[in-house]
Amino acid sequence: MTAITGALYVDCGTGREDPATGRIRYFKPPRARYECLRCGGSEGPVIGAPAVREFVRDIRTEHHTRCTTATQLGAIAA
Ligand SMILES: [Zn+2]
Repeated sequence: MTAITGALYVDCGTGREDPATGRIRYFKPPRARYECLRCGGSEGPVIGAPAVREFVRDIRTEHHTRCTTATQLGAIAA
């Protein structure tokens, strides 16, 4: 069982593939944000496909280093 410590919100945006270039042209760019249920803090939003990809991959680890609740628990355990 995994404890839920945060909520990741991802909006994939709205776009259409450009037939000339094969790239997606966004009318509404993808965006993502993260809300921590432990410290009540939030991260983001980040906007744009590359930023969203990176955010989704790393935010749990990155937030953990900044999360005040996690830091306090670590200090108590140490
Ligand atoms: Zn936190």
